Amino acid sequence: MKNSIWNDFLHLFYPRLCMLCEEPLVEGEEQVCLSCLCDLPRIRHQDTETWNSLFVGKSEIRLAYAFFLFEKGGHVQQLIHALKYYDNKELAFSLGRLAFRHLQQENHPLCGFDVLLPVPLHPKRLKERGYNQSEWIAKGIQSVLSVPIETSVLVRGVKTETQTHRNVYDRWTNMQDVFELADAEKLKNKKVLLIDDVLTTGATFNACAAALGDIPGIELGAFALAKV
Ligand SMILES: [Zn+2]
Repeated sequence: MKNSIWNDFLHLFYPRLCMLCEEPLVEGEEQVCLSCLCDLPRIRHQDTETWNSLFVGKSEIRLAYAFFLFEKGGHVQQLIHALKYYDNKELAFSLGRLAFRHLQQENHPLCGFDVLLPVPLHPKRLKERGYNQSEWIAKGIQSVLSVPIETSVLVRGVKTETQTHRNVYDRWTNMQDVFELADAEKLKNKKVLLIDDVLTTGATFNACAAALGDIPGIELGAFALAKV
C-alpha cells in the first residue's frame, strides 16, 4: 500500500512513457501503450503458407507459427531489441502472454502442447545477458496455458559465430549439432513447443529438433514472437 502511494507520487512528476510513441502510459498499461500494441503488425494466415519449406524434410517440426511481423526499422524490431539487449525480461513476458491470449481466443492448435521448451542460449551468452529472453517469453505463455517449462533437457554446445552475414545454407550447417540432450526420458510421449524470440530461416528450431526428434513418441512444434 505504502509502496503504491509512493509510486503514484513518483509518476505524477515522472510519468511512465510508452517506449514506442513516448506518450504517458495510463493505469494498467505496461511499457507499451494499448494503441501501439494494437498497431503492431501481426502475421497473417497467408504469410505462413511459404513456411513449410523451412521445416518439411529438415526436421520433425509439424507446426510452426510466429505472432508479429518483424519489419526492419519497425516497432516489432524495437521491441525485440529491447527484450534481448536491454535487460527487459518483463517485456518478453508481456509479449509472450499477449500473443497466447490472442491465440487461445482463436483456438489455435499451438495452445494444445504439453511442455514449453525455450531455445537455450549458449552458456557464455547467458552469462553476459543474465537471462534467456526465450525463457521469459515462455513464462508469459505459461501464464496463459499453465503448462510446464522445460530448461534442463536440451543443452547448447559449441558457440556459433554471429549469423548475420551468412547465407541460408551456411546458417543451416553452422547450427547443426550444437544442441545436445541431457535427459531424454523426461520428454517421452510429450507434445513439445519450442520457443524463440525470432524466426528467420528456421535453422535454430531445426537444430533443436534434430537433437529432440529421436525421443520416442515426441511431437514438436515451434513458436517465435516474430518472423523476419
Ligand atoms: Zn504508444
